[in-house]
Amino acid sequence: MTIYDRLSLRPIVNAKGTATRLSGGVAQPLVREAMAEAMGACVDIVELQALASTRIAAVTGGEAGLATAGAAAGLLLGTAACVAGLDPARMARLPEVRGAMPEAIMVRSQRNQYDHALRGAGVRIVEVGLPDRYAGAGCRDAEPWEIEAAINERTVLVHWVADAQSRPALEDVVKVAHAHGLPVLVDAAAQLPPQANLRRFIEAGADLVVFSGGKALGGPQGSGILAGRQDLIASAALQMLDMDYPTGFFRPPAAFIDAAALKGLPPHGIGRVAKVGKEQIVGLLVALEAFIAEGDEARFARWLSPLQTLFDELAPGFDGGLDLRRGGAVPLLGLYPAGGAEAAHRLYADLVQGEPVIHTDPEELDLGAVILNPIALVEGDVARILARLDQISHSRS
Ligand SMILES: *Cc1c(COP(=O)(O)O)cnc(C)c1O
Repeated sequence: MTIYDRLSLRPIVNAKGTATRLSGGVAQPLVREAMAEAMGACVDIVELQALASTRIAAVTGGEAGLATAGAAAGLLLGTAACVAGLDPARMARLPEVRGAMPEAIMVRSQRNQYDHALRGAGVRIVEVGLPDRYAGAGCRDAEPWEIEAAINERTVLVHWVADAQSRPALEDVVKVAHAHGLPVLVDAAAQLPPQANLRRFIEAGADLVVFSGGKALGGPQGSGILAGRQDLIASAALQMLDMDYPTGFFRPPAAFIDAAALKGLPPHGIGRVAKVGKEQIVGLLVALEAFIAEGDEARFARWLSPLQTLFDELAPGFDGGLDLRRGGAVPLLGLYPAGGAEAAHRLYADLVQGEPVIHTDPEELDLGAVILNPIALVEGDVARILARLDQISHSRS
């Protein structure tokens, strides 16, 4: 009996991938055991975060790092760090500021649901560029000069969202921002694997970068990484940690937070609502270690295996086409039921509304494809999917 059985909660098959609404992914036993063990004893949370900082720095190439309550929490904290720096009075006021509202510059085509986290830190987002390549009316997107033209005395950061289609290139954005003394905050939440991306954005000059811990990294669902410049990480940490210390007793490792350089201790900060527990921090660190130890090739083979079984079992009798995609960072299986987009929409609905509930990726339904992602599949799911597909095809014939 699983914990969800005991709670009388309906199980689902997650062939969609690590979506938050489907409770993220699944963690390896190593990660789960470490989290359970971490919950059985107390440690100094600042010492634990300082340790996380050292480990995150080592694998990202950043000066420092912070375990956060997800990538979005990292965006809020990173923004708060860019606004307040190491000034405890500014930290205390957030999300309010003295005078005009601070601004973050963002390329219009990179705007997304998660940039709410920047606004949550009291920042106004200023959009630049006309991405007419998406409208089919042209071929251009924002250019570095447009970012530069938007910079003024209220600007506190430039935000760049990592994706294969992101323009301008990060290197060019960094050049413009740094010429004006501004930090670049990169959202790379879903950019792992490949593993090389842990270092790529900081190598390209990003001052801060966030990754999800709960996606392909295989950490706890509510975890993330913020990595980058030491002073900004220290500010982010100060705005998340419990600051309820008697005078003189806040003594963090100086490489993590240089307490002597502070005018005084801020009160609980804007990031206090996004606190991370010791079990999340430990789970994240163990997952990070395991992610690197496994390597891209072995991980890809592990993910491919259930899709290959599905492909082999379905190939002889599936009414439609199958496409086992090995070209991306994560292998995918596309089901193209005969009947095009309409049939794909119907298959998606039958899977998600049936018994068991099977979630697939709806992104390409209009192109006639139901996509299966292997990251969050568990033992027995392949058999469940095959049985349900068989049942659906029989109910139709
Ligand atoms: C998933 C995602 C996030 C949020 O990550 P969490 O770890 O769930 O907070 C932010 N930005 C992008 C681009 C994402 O894909």
